[in-house]
Amino acid sequence: MPRKNLRRSAIVVLDQEKTLNGRVAVPLRARHLDFGEKWSYAPAPEAHDYIKLQPRYQLFIGGKFVAPRSGKYFASINPATEEKLAEIAEADARDIDLAVKSARRAYKNVWSKMPGRERGKFLYRIARLIQEKSRELAVLETMDGGKTIKESRDIDLPLVAAHFFYYAGWADKLEYAFPGRTARPLGVAGQIIPWNFPLLMAAWKLAPALACGNTCVLKPAETTSITAMHLAQIFQEAELPDGVVNIVTGAGETGKALVDHSDINKIAFTGSTSVGKLLTQAVAGTNKRLTLELGGKAANIIFEDAPIDQAVEGIISGIYFNQGHVCCAGSRLLVQEGVFRAVIRKLRDRIATLRVGNPLDKNTDIGAINSRMQLDKICELVDSGLQQGAELVQSSAKLPAKGYWYPPSFFTGVTASHRIAQEEIFGPVLSVMTFRTPEEAIERANNTPYGLSAGVWTDKGSKIFKIVSKLRAGVVWANTYNKFDPTSPFGGYKESGFGREGGRHGLLPYVALS
Ligand code: NAD
Repeated sequence: MPRKNLRRSAIVVLDQEKTLNGRVAVPLRARHLDFGEKWSYAPAPEAHDYIKLQPRYQLFIGGKFVAPRSGKYFASINPATEEKLAEIAEADARDIDLAVKSARRAYKNVWSKMPGRERGKFLYRIARLIQEKSRELAVLETMDGGKTIKESRDIDLPLVAAHFFYYAGWADKLEYAFPGRTARPLGVAGQIIPWNFPLLMAAWKLAPALACGNTCVLKPAETTSITAMHLAQIFQEAELPDGVVNIVTGAGETGKALVDHSDINKIAFTGSTSVGKLLTQAVAGTNKRLTLELGGKAANIIFEDAPIDQAVEGIISGIYFNQGHVCCAGSRLLVQEGVFRAVIRKLRDRIATLRVGNPLDKNTDIGAINSRMQLDKICELVDSGLQQGAELVQSSAKLPAKGYWYPPSFFTGVTASHRIAQEEIFGPVLSVMTFRTPEEAIERANNTPYGLSAGVWTDKGSKIFKIVSKLRAGVVWANTYNKFDPTSPFGGYKESGFGREGGRHGLLPYVALS
């Protein structure tokens, strides 16, 4: 195997037979980076022996945990160990019907009649209970989804509580949200969420819907249902009236049954663009309102005048943390030619220091890929990049023997027509391209079917305003990346969906105005 030494890292050019992570078929030009033991830390595992996992999680309908009509259950796996954590109930159309009926009853009899200030009190109570149990919920989120404890503890859970607090505040102030108009709830909302931020996506959906007086049927993703069921326990503890929130678990068929139910007023969906398109067809010709938060292929643009170290740190957190399982991940990097070599060198050095492994370890930067299916998808797209002639640089971080893992990687020599420049990889893989002028940067950044987010790195405030106004992306960060706050609206253009979540804008999809 040819090997040449670089200043601080070893670069290994893989031979034809060697496979990356055991799965890449033809690694033509891949380089592995290794910083050896230099950056190793002693293990710092988060305790999880106190976590009370139930062997079986039932459906949450009408304020009670009930068995699914079909009697069927499926396993929820810890992607870091491949161990079965629990069995999850599989809801079918009959369970969905019960859940929708229960939500309708609660809407008519209790929730829509309750004054906003009383609804707000329930939301405050839920927010406080989430804070109280946040450590336990963070550990569960990490065990069930593979994300690092650093992220679930320091980002997900604080934001989950903050969303409930924020929308609790709006519940009795809707007349100020829409001055001069009357806001009425829509009725029953069917809400479907993905696996990358399970509790946070639940909070994004439930908190504004409840604040506006709607009742909900929530369907979590099939690989990450456990924390949603613990949230259901919190609803019971908060004495939320029965049926105001119902949680049904299952995969695509369960979601489809929810979308197709005739007594739903509103569908809110976060997930892939392909499923979003199916939902658009399913609700066409009905009175159901629809909002879609879909995929993305964000460009992070680094200009020559940018603070390069800060930019590289932002790029790293924008694509590698949460294993790249972020819809707004900065998965394309556009670098102005004059700083290309410097950026690549820093990027290469930095990814070699990222620690991949046990997500419950507080030092881990990159946890487990959420499922085998997702890992296969990442490997297939990386393979396509190699086949199409791009050059792969990859950390040689030692990956655990069990579980689903992918090392932090980036491609250079990427052209706009490569699949890795167009399709969402949803893994820790970055595609780097160059540009010469600001106009070229804008054109390249907008050259994607998506329009969810983007990042701009420059020292010049005027340049930020000029570029941002021309980027077709719902969220643009300047000299920072992936920063969230419940007061800020979030959502996309083009194939990234429509409608906004968060902030005052996030109330609009859940009200009828007159
Ligand atoms: P997915 O579309 O496969 O699944 C999302 C949810 O939809 C899951 O709960 C799933 O069970 C359900 N579902 C699947 N088929 C369905 C159908 N036919 N009818 C109704 N429901 C169905 O997406 P995923 O793989 O779980 O999540 C990753 C995707 O989500 C990525 O594309 C990512 O960009 C996107 N995402 C977007 C945002 C955003 O805010 N824009 C946030 C997180 C994730």
